[in-house]
Amino acid sequence: MSTVTPIDTPFDKRHSCWFCGEPCDRHFEYHSEVHTPHPSLAVPACGECLALAKQHKLTSIWDCRVAVKDALMRIYAKHLAIGINWTEEELAESEFSCNVFGGFKKSAWMMYQIARDRINAPGWPIVLEGITIDDQGYSAGFEFDGVIYTSLHAAIHYYSSQFCLDPRFFAELVRLLGRGRFNYALKLARIHIAAAKEMKQQVLADIKAELAS
Ligand SMILES: [Zn+2]
Repeated sequence: MSTVTPIDTPFDKRHSCWFCGEPCDRHFEYHSEVHTPHPSLAVPACGECLALAKQHKLTSIWDCRVAVKDALMRIYAKHLAIGINWTEEELAESEFSCNVFGGFKKSAWMMYQIARDRINAPGWPIVLEGITIDDQGYSAGFEFDGVIYTSLHAAIHYYSSQFCLDPRFFAELVRLLGRGRFNYALKLARIHIAAAKEMKQQVLADIKAELAS
């Protein structure tokens, strides 16, 4: 296994989650595969983003970040909706005065702001021991079969629902095989659509062994 290098972190960000900007004291380790466009590395992460990132490694740390943001957006959809439905002034001037709604009024805007800021948090460039790692377009959309998806994660999600695939298995295949073999990963996921969990694990192990040889 390759060594995991912590990314260089600006001084003012040293206690911030790379994904969402919240205070944090943990690290997410991304172990690179044959096709990963960067070496193995570690980014500071809060507990929630760490758990989400582990589920969405995809083909690079940048794909992973997009997927974490998508997941946060889904988890905090209700908090984000507060900002869509209200302005801060409207909420302050609202007639909610009884105890129950009074509490809502006080905390609602703050919950919205926290969720919004976490999703907007830009992180910082990936720099390993002073050397900036170019994202090689991995932060941008993903094109497959003439269609540009907002992200690799979005493409996997689309094909998984289109063909009723196991999204985790498909994502693992893409992670191992790389973006360039998305089509092959899709074929494998479709062939093994009804396969048992053990069989899928065997397929992944076989691919890993084949790539390592
Ligand atoms: Zn976070």
